[in-house]
Amino acid sequence: MPCGFATGSYLQIETWEDAEDDYLASLVSHHMLLNSEEEENQIWCPICKQGELMENQRNIHCNMCEMQLNKGDEVNLKILQERLAEANAEHLERGCRLKPKFSVQSQYNLKALYITCDACNTFEVVV
Ligand SMILES: [Zn+2]
Ligand SMILES: [Zn+2]
Repeated sequence: MPCGFATGSYLQIETWEDAEDDYLASLVSHHMLLNSEEEENQIWCPICKQGELMENQRNIHCNMCEMQLNKGDEVNLKILQERLAEANAEHLERGCRLKPKFSVQSQYNLKALYITCDACNTFEVVV
């Protein structure tokens, strides 16, 4: 029966649109959640990915692992957060789909946070 068939497919389309609305709504609320986290200035440790980065007068450190960076005029938690986001974005722009690794290395008595990826030969100072 052609008439019944048409009604059936119309219903199907309506359901699909409802599902998409739910999906978009969940994306929006997730985005808002991300923004509120940013305001709290909470930075997860890029090295162990479990701890939270803290700062005091002299250094930035992780509350879960050995990660530690000296603070200075050019290095504080806010700058570190921005540079981490930039370094991640730069790595993505290379078209590499692997997750880069972060590590703290000392050179000339200066500790620095590096981003490294074996797959695309990334080796750069983050801060
Ligand atoms: Zn850590
Ligand atoms: Zn890579």
